[in-house]
Amino acid sequence: MSMNNQGRPTAPSDTMTNAAANDVTTISGNKGLMQAESLIFEIGTPRRTGVDFAEAKAVKSRLGNNARTSEIGLPGLTEPQAMRHYVRLSQKNYAIDLGVYPLGSCTMKHNPRLNEKVARMPGFGDVHPLQPESTVQGALELMHELSHWICTLTGMPAVAMTPKAGAHGEWAGMAAIRARLDADGHTHKRRVLVPESAHGTNPASAVQCGFTVDEIPASGDGRVNLAALKEKLGDDVAGIMLTNPNTCGLFERDIIEIADLIHSVGGYFYCDGANFNALVGRVRPGDLGIDAMHLNLHKTFSTPHGGGGPGAGPTVLSDALKEYAPLPFVVKEGDKYRLVEDNTGDGAATFGRMCAFHGQMGMFSRALTYMMSHGSDGLRQATEDAVLNANYIQASLSDVMSPAFGGVCMHEALFDDHFLDDTGVTTLDFAKAMIDEGYHPMTMYFPLVVHGAMLIEPTESESKGELDRFIASMRGLAIKAKAKEVEFFQAAPVHAPMRRLDETQAARKPVLRWRPEVVDAAE
Ligand SMILES: *Cc1c(COP(=O)(O)O)cnc(C)c1O
Repeated sequence: MSMNNQGRPTAPSDTMTNAAANDVTTISGNKGLMQAESLIFEIGTPRRTGVDFAEAKAVKSRLGNNARTSEIGLPGLTEPQAMRHYVRLSQKNYAIDLGVYPLGSCTMKHNPRLNEKVARMPGFGDVHPLQPESTVQGALELMHELSHWICTLTGMPAVAMTPKAGAHGEWAGMAAIRARLDADGHTHKRRVLVPESAHGTNPASAVQCGFTVDEIPASGDGRVNLAALKEKLGDDVAGIMLTNPNTCGLFERDIIEIADLIHSVGGYFYCDGANFNALVGRVRPGDLGIDAMHLNLHKTFSTPHGGGGPGAGPTVLSDALKEYAPLPFVVKEGDKYRLVEDNTGDGAATFGRMCAFHGQMGMFSRALTYMMSHGSDGLRQATEDAVLNANYIQASLSDVMSPAFGGVCMHEALFDDHFLDDTGVTTLDFAKAMIDEGYHPMTMYFPLVVHGAMLIEPTESESKGELDRFIASMRGLAIKAKAKEVEFFQAAPVHAPMRRLDETQAARKPVLRWRPEVVDAAE
């Protein structure tokens, strides 16, 4: 195992000029039945509309000199133009409803339609966060019930429901740790240990909460190096942020010892629970000594994500941290539900409020539907199938690709680029060739501790038939790579509407705003 010191090569290869890389070979610019589509500002004009409004009644303006005299510049489209614009864009977007989406660490699983049906029920879909409590008792009950499921599945005493993403949940957990340390007068405890295989959001969340980050190296088998961890312990340690299963798709087998070590120096154990999909019904984080952990409802509990909508990152808290939970939260009194909105009474020790309201209601209703429709046995089965599917992929490809570590994996299979040695083909080329095969590429060049990493997470929602087709494509590509068909790979993707883009340039100098002048100047 060696560090990925090459970084992720994202610019088009030298052998391909940008023009060749994005050649348009048809008169129309369309490719097959895939329509070329311009920006809405380029096709729209302010004088067109899809809706006819009755002439507005003249009213006396009260704006004085503040009335706008220039055009607003909104792009006007007729109804069929608007329809086509968005349908064309949607067809350029790969989606979980379209095919296998094997992005490791992202848990792109099927979003059951039953979830959608429940989320659209008027009592859940049409409520407003400022409605009086007495009119939203059902919505509060749903949140309370979901909290109960989350606490039961994790074996933890409390959960903060407000965080709106995994990273937001990390922030909530670290803020609770910080509040507890401050309450105890432990202001010298500011160092947080983070394994080098951590998701990038972990060190970012720790720093955002005023901690410094100290990296722990990985051992040869892809887990935390326990000896290195012991050396890093000290009185100034505030805690550790550890992902389990980790980003190599492996269970941290020393996790209980790690928890004990951190607690022995008065620190707290934050566990990144984004990969809870591999554990539900099999392992309860509360039994492992964890103090705080976020769950991604938009991963493990099937709510849509990845351009598909908002996330939700409820964060479970141990007895040591629960009274510091963010506002607001739901409490049950008799048969009524109430939101604790300020730092008196139940909320006296809160670290504060991290967003205006109580979280993502639409995600709560979907996640609870998923849980209740599966039942506890079904949730356990989903986890077992997710792990089985990942191991099926790893086992089916291990003779032509190179698994990064030996043994069984959890819910995702990790390969390095060893099988591409001396072929002239890189992980990036391989991923681009997958696009031609009709698959969204796996996560690549992450985790950083594995050279040219390819991280594949099939999830439980793929059938054996789907997995076999995917495996056949991967095998075929691996065999082509070994036959050194370098030009084939460097040309890929040839069937995509856009071919190799300069991703580095796009990330470093993103053009986020359309300006008419820019277009004029280019003409
Ligand atoms: C997805 C993920 C996160 C971040 O979750 P967001 O909802 O994208 O903020 C954090 N850690 C791990 C391991 C993840 O897979």
